[in-house]
Amino acid sequence: MEFSSKLLENAVNEVSMLPGIGKRTALRLVLHLLRQPDTQTEQLAEALMKFRNEIKLCQSCHNISDVALCEICANTNRDGTIICVVEDVRDVMAIESTAQFRGLYHVLGGKISPMDGIGPHDLTIESLVRKVKEGEVKELIFALSSTIEGDTTNFYIYKQLEGTDVKTSTIARGIAVGDELEYADEVTLGRSIINRVPFENSLKTS
Ligand SMILES: [Zn+2]
Repeated sequence: MEFSSKLLENAVNEVSMLPGIGKRTALRLVLHLLRQPDTQTEQLAEALMKFRNEIKLCQSCHNISDVALCEICANTNRDGTIICVVEDVRDVMAIESTAQFRGLYHVLGGKISPMDGIGPHDLTIESLVRKVKEGEVKELIFALSSTIEGDTTNFYIYKQLEGTDVKTSTIARGIAVGDELEYADEVTLGRSIINRVPFENSLKTS
């Protein structure tokens, strides 16, 4: 791509670093901004900078939050004895939108994936195990995507919890194998939480 301006080229290069955005799309977005009032670019840049600089991870569930303890963990109407284990904030958003779950979450920050160099210690598994061993939690619902990495992660956590009397379950697999949670429709996802099955059962069938 031949640019008539170094400034244009730099802007396009930066925008095209984003996943799913090629050079052509980046050029279209940048030229769009140029046609808008300059306040729009300022607001975009400011929102991104503020997000990056001020965002926190909830000290309890590790969800993305504006404050030290996220809104869900801070809500006393939620049931702290049941925790839904998810990969990232997108899963929390997907499950919240079903309005079928009134417990709390634990955000792992990924899945165990030796291929990508992600081991158990790169995730928030230790703090989850600690939370369970403190004794408040009665049930964990594993809601990771049903991929090999998701299953490996579930099993690792399950093994870590041996000797505790916490109940473990997985969301019912109405969701096809390999589907990412965030893409499941709300009704299917809501139903799969209600119809969750004991984790031991999922071990027998797989
Ligand atoms: Zn939280």
